[in-house]
Amino acid sequence: MSVTDTATARLVIDLNALAENYRHLQSLSAPAQCAAVVKANAYGLGAVPVAETLAGLGCSVFFVATPEEGRALRKTLPKVQIYVLDGLFPGTAAFYGAHDLRPVLGSAAEIAEWQAYCQASDSAPPAALHLDTGMNRLGMGEAELATLTETDPLWHEKLSLSLIMSHLACADEPSHPLNETQRQRFAAMRQKLPASLAEKPASLANSAGIFLGAAYHYDLVRPGIALYGGRATQDKPPLAPVAHLFSRILQIRKIPDGETVGYGAAHRLVRPRRIATVPVGYADGYFRALGASDRKTGAHAIIGGYRAPLVGRVSMDLITLDVTHIPETVAFRGAQVELLGAHVPLAHLADRAGTIDYEILTALGARYQRSYRHGL
Ligand SMILES: *Cc1c(COP(=O)(O)O)cnc(C)c1O
Repeated sequence: MSVTDTATARLVIDLNALAENYRHLQSLSAPAQCAAVVKANAYGLGAVPVAETLAGLGCSVFFVATPEEGRALRKTLPKVQIYVLDGLFPGTAAFYGAHDLRPVLGSAAEIAEWQAYCQASDSAPPAALHLDTGMNRLGMGEAELATLTETDPLWHEKLSLSLIMSHLACADEPSHPLNETQRQRFAAMRQKLPASLAEKPASLANSAGIFLGAAYHYDLVRPGIALYGGRATQDKPPLAPVAHLFSRILQIRKIPDGETVGYGAAHRLVRPRRIATVPVGYADGYFRALGASDRKTGAHAIIGGYRAPLVGRVSMDLITLDVTHIPETVAFRGAQVELLGAHVPLAHLADRAGTIDYEILTALGARYQRSYRHGL
């Protein structure tokens, strides 16, 4: 840490770990092709460095959520395929065309708009078709597809579809019956597509879907969270941690028993304690729910190999840790505190905050000093 470092904390993204995770998912999914989902700024870790790293490993298909995310990625990677998962935003077809973005078409209205664009521009840029097999959020259901085929039997001839996809709702629960139901519906709906589409490349699996086995892989898999070291399913350990968050102790205070710590006087000390204050808070994505009034349900950080439990409430910009049991030569003003990483897994923070790994990553704050490294 440099002497002029004024950041609240350092967020270190380990691109070697990311690469290792990609190769692992690729080998699990082969012979299917392994794409990468880099929506929401690559789950908060930085879409550009993440996508550049993965493209360097041969990843040639990327998924973003929105057209703006697609445009930003296109500037960095002129050659790769970029699909926009949220579909065709109303009135934006020319934007997709201009930036070589492939909409994931999910309704008759989106298809009509894309057809009109193809016709007007006398071109047929590639797009994906999203079939809804049970998520009921985006995509064409069986009935909608049947209606479209009835009203316009040649609808697909005015388009160039490069991918037929669907999305699993419960893949993180491997034994959930909806997984198999969705797989069967996907197969059945593909069968009913016009003959020229039934053979198009297909994609069903997110990270968790990859772990459901080869029957779910089809031609292309679409991992997100597993690439970034988050848990894909409840029964599998996560891959290598990619995000590491370190801060420093600002102050250490000796506080007598009977006193309380922090807002709401929520934590009362029954014994005298040494309390360390660290400059990270809920405004940085360190969730307020992490501050529990007892040690069993609250989060901890790591200082020099010692566990330091969070005490009192999480403030906007600060947290307080109990360092009474840690030697003063280890826990001192300026000492490094690991808040997330190899010794404080994403799963720990997610479980203690009552949320999922995805939300911890995507909430990582804007005040952190970010750096990208090859290994820690
Ligand atoms: C976000 C998303 C993914 C990636 O999901 P993970 O669970 O992070 O692997 C794949 N497909 C679609 C349609 C998505 O929205």
